[in-house]
Amino acid sequence: MTQATVIDGKAFADGIRDGVARAVTELKDDYGITPGLAVVLVGDDPASAVYVRNKGEQANAVGMHSVTHRLPAHTSQGELLELVGQLNADASIHGILVQMPLPRGLDADAVIAAIDPAKDVDGLHPLNAGRLSAGLPGMVPCTPVGCMMLLKDRLGDLSGRHAVMVGRSNLMGKPMAQLLLAANCTVTVAHSRTRDLAAVCRLADILVVAVGQPEMVKADWVKPGAVVLDVGMNRVPSKDPEKAAAGKTRLVGDVDFAAVSPIASQITPVPGGIGPMTIACLLRNAVQACAAERGVRLSALV
Ligand code: NDP
Repeated sequence: MTQATVIDGKAFADGIRDGVARAVTELKDDYGITPGLAVVLVGDDPASAVYVRNKGEQANAVGMHSVTHRLPAHTSQGELLELVGQLNADASIHGILVQMPLPRGLDADAVIAAIDPAKDVDGLHPLNAGRLSAGLPGMVPCTPVGCMMLLKDRLGDLSGRHAVMVGRSNLMGKPMAQLLLAANCTVTVAHSRTRDLAAVCRLADILVVAVGQPEMVKADWVKPGAVVLDVGMNRVPSKDPEKAAAGKTRLVGDVDFAAVSPIASQITPVPGGIGPMTIACLLRNAVQACAAERGVRLSALV
């Protein structure tokens, strides 16, 4: 049985980061500007702490100015909004990311709406979401941007292909559906209320899954030859019972990779697929925000 080509998101992300590093050098050398990224973490969620650390380290690695604000879980809405306001006004910061989810009691929508849309590197501000759906330029969420880069690299023109997006979050499913539509795909958006999800998925030439359900998509959900992007990141107990008993976990996607690989033509693994693309595209968004703010046309960015 043939196996799908595994799409190496890590290698692709390395290429994006190289382009970002060259763009940072161009901004510094030719214009005297250092792009700045501020990441805000509220509370002590361990997974969020890892994401935030990675974002800061990778921003530093490409030569950006990076600041991380770690606030206690009992931070008030007012304190958080005040910090966002300070970052909006800070000329050394071109991108602001408030790590989600926020602790209970904080209003995420109000915080997102308070971020200057020009610095909204997560692309979650209603103005940026509206611009995307209207086909206007703006900040687009990083994970869908990364998915589109992989699809265009692998398939070239996406026109006329049937894309099924499983999941409809503001961060992933909705913007991804908009980008697929803009690329002239026929787009179906599925979610937890979709009837006969397996049959809907089987229609897909391009199947993108972002639900947060470990290995939900099985072999008979996939049309032979489909391209499958697995966005999910789920921690499940280790396969080794002893390690599992000791609390060891492993990372799996929303797609049953082993079962689907013989059916799909191309597939992203977890880990090493979409995950690395997300941070690389975040850095790219931050550099683009900086260039846009200064009216600079970058030659280096991938
Ligand atoms: P959300 O929880 O915000 O949204 C999940 C979506 O999946 C919802 O639209 C929900 O439907 C749908 N859904 C949930 N269960 C089912 C089901 N059984 N059948 C069909 N649809 C279902 O999650 P996100 O979009 O933020 O993230 C999804 C996954 O992607 C998570 O595993 C997350 O960790 C991962 N992720 C990975 C990133 C990366 O960099 N690789 C970046 C972002 C997310 P409904 O709307 O009806 O509730």
